[in-house]
Amino acid sequence: MEKEEALLKSHISRHNLKVTKERSAVLRAFLDSERHITAESLYRKMKDAGSSVGLATIYRTLNLFCESGLAEQRQFGDGQARYELVFNVKHHDHLICQECQRIIEFQNEEIETLQEKVAQKHNFKIFSHKLELYGLCSDCSKTRLETK
Ligand SMILES: [Zn+2]
Ligand SMILES: [Zn+2]
Repeated sequence: MEKEEALLKSHISRHNLKVTKERSAVLRAFLDSERHITAESLYRKMKDAGSSVGLATIYRTLNLFCESGLAEQRQFGDGQARYELVFNVKHHDHLICQECQRIIEFQNEEIETLQEKVAQKHNFKIFSHKLELYGLCSDCSKTRLETK
């Protein structure tokens, strides 16, 4: 987590904030959590591990991670903000199961190239994009078939 910590530290000092024990603890917990975690799950996880960091601090710290370029906040349609590490992580898009909320990551070069082509056609410069496909994962489609 050294690089991540260094990135966060430089952002924090540029904004005249302090690297607090709590912020470091949230960073550590965030880095070894599942990807696409909600603030509440991170809070529960830290609490279970004996931490006393409050939910509000976790929210603020996660936002700080987003501002510093470490993480991004995502909305996957269930009204829950999720945070995922993006620093040093290759670009990818998401398939979201609307039954079990499972999130599958994928990379597809053809889609990426197509997007560039579409943008070019409109003389548009893409800075970033988010592609989210909603539906049923393979497990959930199976159970759906079985219960019919
Ligand atoms: Zn599913
Ligand atoms: Zn992801």
